Amino acid sequence: MSSPTYIGRFAPSPTGPLHVGSLVAALASWLDARAAGGRWLVRMEDLDRPRCEPGADDTILRQLEAYGLLWDGTVLYQSRRDDAYAAALAALRSQGAVFACTCTRSQLAQAPRNAEGEIVYPGTCRLHPFPNLAPHAWRVRTVDASTHFVDRVHGALRQDLADEVGDFVVKRADGLFAYQLAVVVDDAFQGVTHVVRGADLLWNTPRQIYLQGLLGLPTPAYAHVPLVTNAAGQKLSKQTLAPALPERGRRMVLAQALAALGHPPPAELVGAGPGELLGWAVGEWRIKNVPLHPTIANATQAPDNQPLAPSP
Ligand SMILES: [Zn+2]
Repeated sequence: MSSPTYIGRFAPSPTGPLHVGSLVAALASWLDARAAGGRWLVRMEDLDRPRCEPGADDTILRQLEAYGLLWDGTVLYQSRRDDAYAAALAALRSQGAVFACTCTRSQLAQAPRNAEGEIVYPGTCRLHPFPNLAPHAWRVRTVDASTHFVDRVHGALRQDLADEVGDFVVKRADGLFAYQLAVVVDDAFQGVTHVVRGADLLWNTPRQIYLQGLLGLPTPAYAHVPLVTNAAGQKLSKQTLAPALPERGRRMVLAQALAALGHPPPAELVGAGPGELLGWAVGEWRIKNVPLHPTIANATQAPDNQPLAPSP
């Protein structure tokens, strides 16, 4: 049962308090780690400083504690990791894997988009000489970069990076390192062996595997769990005005989150506290029982409302 080589993590962006959707992702990651006898780390993805909300990191940690999702070790902050990201960029530069890009947002507005709605970079700056003065981003070349990977929930998947993503940004023109680079550097730094996170990041995974290959870093196992959406089918987020996790009624919210992950607590656990529910769930956790499809949160205001219902 015990696997000492398992290290998992939850990596929220401290842009606001956790909501039901982020709880589901945290819970899946925590359960997978605890069921494997592994460690579970928390990393604050506060790379995009302007988007972060002061104090949100403390709020998130208090919420995790309140829901019984206790982490191991100290919390890593991406905002303190610029030196590590700079070293990774230097390694990519030394092998000619990146190039400077001076394209502006408006210049790229006409570029084609992929199924996720992201711009597929048309390669404009690939052959440009290095622009010494203009502000520029750094993009990684994606020539012939078809990536296969096996997701523990979604099965075998394939993405052609060159066709479906194009050369992607590893450092932005405003000087901030890109999420794709930071997450790869940090997962390796923290020794993460298993990534369990929301399905909104499923199609980011090939970019991360590609960077791991270029940087000589190990590739963790990946599992992408279903998102919780609102009645309009939108992912719960600050942008879609998802309410923060309630302070009261945690037992009901946890039971709903477990149901969203394909592990509805049995009738005899009705009335059980969070600790008892989590103990039961660790024993019952099977990643193969996690559904592919998102659930709809219809109980986001009143925790004693109806449970989360599967989407049609
Ligand atoms: Zn460009």
